[in-house]
Amino acid sequence: MEAYQDGFSHSAWSDASGMPVQWADSSDSSGPGQIASLSTHDLYRFAMELGPTMPWLADAQGVMLEMDPRIFELTGREKELCLGRGFQQSVHCADMDMVMAAWRRGQDDLQPFDYDLRILLRDGNYRWHRVRAVPFVEDGRVRCWYGTFEDFHERRMASDAVRWVADHDELTGLLNRRAFIREVRGKFAAPDRDESETVLVLLDIDRLKPINERFGNEIGDKLLCHVASRLGESFGSGVLLARTNGDEFALCLSLPVGSDRDSALMRAQEVFSKPFLVQGRQYDIGASIGMALHPRDAENADALFKTAEFALFEAKTGVGVVRQFDASMREQHQRRLSALFVAREALAQKRIFPFYQPQVDLVTGEVVGFEALLRWEHKRHGIQPAAMISGAFEDAELAAALDLRMFEQIVEDIREWRAKGVPFGRVAINTSVVRFRAGSIAGELLRRIEEGGLSPDMLELEITEDVLIDRAPEQLARDMLVLREAGMTIALDDFGTGFASLIHLKEFAIDVLKIDRAFMQDMDDRANGAIVAALVRLGKRLSIRTVAEGVETARQAQLLRLKGCDIGQGFLFSPAVPARDVAELIRSLANDASTF
Ligand code: C2E
Ligand code: CA
Ligand code: CA
Repeated sequence: MEAYQDGFSHSAWSDASGMPVQWADSSDSSGPGQIASLSTHDLYRFAMELGPTMPWLADAQGVMLEMDPRIFELTGREKELCLGRGFQQSVHCADMDMVMAAWRRGQDDLQPFDYDLRILLRDGNYRWHRVRAVPFVEDGRVRCWYGTFEDFHERRMASDAVRWVADHDELTGLLNRRAFIREVRGKFAAPDRDESETVLVLLDIDRLKPINERFGNEIGDKLLCHVASRLGESFGSGVLLARTNGDEFALCLSLPVGSDRDSALMRAQEVFSKPFLVQGRQYDIGASIGMALHPRDAENADALFKTAEFALFEAKTGVGVVRQFDASMREQHQRRLSALFVAREALAQKRIFPFYQPQVDLVTGEVVGFEALLRWEHKRHGIQPAAMISGAFEDAELAAALDLRMFEQIVEDIREWRAKGVPFGRVAINTSVVRFRAGSIAGELLRRIEEGGLSPDMLELEITEDVLIDRAPEQLARDMLVLREAGMTIALDDFGTGFASLIHLKEFAIDVLKIDRAFMQDMDDRANGAIVAALVRLGKRLSIRTVAEGVETARQAQLLRLKGCDIGQGFLFSPAVPARDVAELIRSLANDASTF
């Protein structure tokens, strides 16, 4: 603006007398050259006519007095219809308020201003133009306004495009996360948001990753676009809709107080009720959905996001589940976060190590092996069981790091026992479900066993029923076969508590069945007693050894022996002990064998 004003008032041509301009000509030492019969005004007009900016002049109130004839040409309106206030007829109605406000402001503060507006052209199209207006002030009063008018369409479109790209997800055309958060915050900042409730729904598409892997990213991308357009159709234009992350969507809408909040959730769910068709193939995809409500669950936009994220997190622990926020989620989430934090810190400070719990032959009383159980050291409270950090077993990265740390030390312990001739039998190691989700683990495990100088027949791998359910069965069966052929044994942990059925025992090559400690209680009770007896019988028929977990009393050991259970593990024999106590434990259990 400054430069413009300068150019206008102190131009080389400005000659208050209106006399022809004289050019300084350095080659002519006799004096300045002269261009006859051209007034400053003419020259000025020519220059303006060559340039893209079209001048105008208005009175103090903004009523147009004079305009560059090109403006009449452009708009197809005759001079009489453009001057005065007639020009307003050519302004896009959506820009009119802004134009009026700019003029009001200019007249108040007597400062130059500019704005962009769409002008209706003679061909019926609107094009963006930029208007600049400068007051001519004399004695503290505006005498008139002068300014320019310029086609700004290409530049405006380009900057709109840049802005669009910055705010949108390229694939689906929905808002991106940053823009969405900004818009939701904006909603809260609006002064007239009194009587409505704000619903925030977060969706996380299930099973997109396997689809990408199996059918290619192109199919995954198309599915995301379908989801975006179905959400758009279902919720209509009044809702903010965004793709906030790879397979995450978010939507935010206002509802009149007292209206049916669940309907938003149901609509979101319905989007996934029908399969999606891409290139002639049907894909069944679902979503985990979390919802939170203002003012019920949160005070402001940011808190509303947090609470909706809690709800989504809870929903994600199952597949295709919908959750509304409730206060207990915050607590659970906090616990999980602190589990991750504690586990990370303990890992970094090498405060994670295995303890070993013996497994005892129920007939001979001999120690046949140990289960390695994770322990961590609290700086003040000393050795802790796994429970408090068990949330870390659900985090793929941490679970892998914990497994690795445990394994390294188990290798060391075994090597030391071997060097000292300690008859430790077989060591059972635990794994987390998430480890299997990432793909095959057999190769890596065998490599580490070899690198550690151990042989696979010193180890047993404990998997839980969830692993059997979670993983593609063929792949898992193959993994287990590889491990068994190498000499490792496979134990099915916590049997009876999860969803595995007896069918799985046949389908997968399993060596050991660990009967969950829940069945140890009231074994005299007909139900539990019958279950244990049936499991033991089944094991015998399939040549699967049975291990009873959580054996705490001699009576339980006796009943188990009577039912034919092979091995017992539990506090009756010993809790898990540090590696250095294992040799002594084996000796003392051998001495006590007769008492069981
Ligand atoms: P789990 O694999 O079922 O381990 C057996 C749990 O029962 C252990 O708890 C053990 O200390 C406990 N226990 C043993 N005998 C008795 C008994 O007579 N009575 C009772 N009430 N409890 C008994 P811990 O060590 O706290 O481990 C809990 C769970 O943490 C384990 O259950 C396992 O799922 C997980 N975990 C432990 N170590 C690891 C590990 O290194 N990796 C992975 N992925 N998970 C582990
Ligand atoms: Ca176990
Ligand atoms: Ca167990």
